[in-house]
Amino acid sequence: MRFIDLSSPVDASSFEPDPVGHEVLTPREGAAHMSAEMREHFGVEFDPNELPDGEFLSLDRMTLTTHTGTHVDAPSHYGSRASYGTGIPRHIDEMPLDWFFRPAVVLDLTGHDTGAVGADELNKEFDRIGHRPEPLDIVLLHTGAPRRAGTREYFTDFVGLDGPAVHLLLDLGVRVIGTDAFSLDAPFGDILARYRRTNDRSVLWPAHFVGRDREYCQIERLANLDALPSPYGFRVACFPVKITEGGAGWARAVAMVDD
Ligand SMILES: [Zn+2]
Repeated sequence: MRFIDLSSPVDASSFEPDPVGHEVLTPREGAAHMSAEMREHFGVEFDPNELPDGEFLSLDRMTLTTHTGTHVDAPSHYGSRASYGTGIPRHIDEMPLDWFFRPAVVLDLTGHDTGAVGADELNKEFDRIGHRPEPLDIVLLHTGAPRRAGTREYFTDFVGLDGPAVHLLLDLGVRVIGTDAFSLDAPFGDILARYRRTNDRSVLWPAHFVGRDREYCQIERLANLDALPSPYGFRVACFPVKITEGGAGWARAVAMVDD
């Protein structure tokens, strides 16, 4: 079996609309920090120079949103109310683990310009690959967006799905839809232009807002989807980090390919 990393990094050095803060306490600074904490909280004296190499352990402190790097959106991200179940959408820590380790299908949307892809185009792609997703399969959208990773355009120029396209996947029983773009919806500029033209509220973030009526999760900001050897016949694991009452959780998304 072969692992293919489908994750994009959490990288404080790269441009983000919500900047990532990343402070590192080096192992040497960690020694002084530990010694000070022992004195303050436990009344214990410890000379950091007694440690081998005078070093203790490093420590990373981060400030970031849960939508940084590859992550899974929970139903509670899409709105505070749901029209299904109890009416209260589930948070990321409440989602069933078996949604996140499943056979997967990757669809090639690289031929599309910035904007939203519809159900017809997904059906065409199912015909081209000769396969339709089974219930609970994870569907991955290969849009080619990571070629703009690290630039402002990564956040403004990409391909998403429209509402009917999301409904089509949910009708097939899919509960996790992944994309290598910043969002499963079209870019905000594209959405707003359509809204100004039509004055129709249903064009506002339709892919996300479908989740107010039907329970599903998205994986956003995947990477490396062009490394998958075939459109189906592999599995994906993308367990989200367990953040209590979180609207999303970071994930290390990995494809498993049987040779
Ligand atoms: Zn997100």
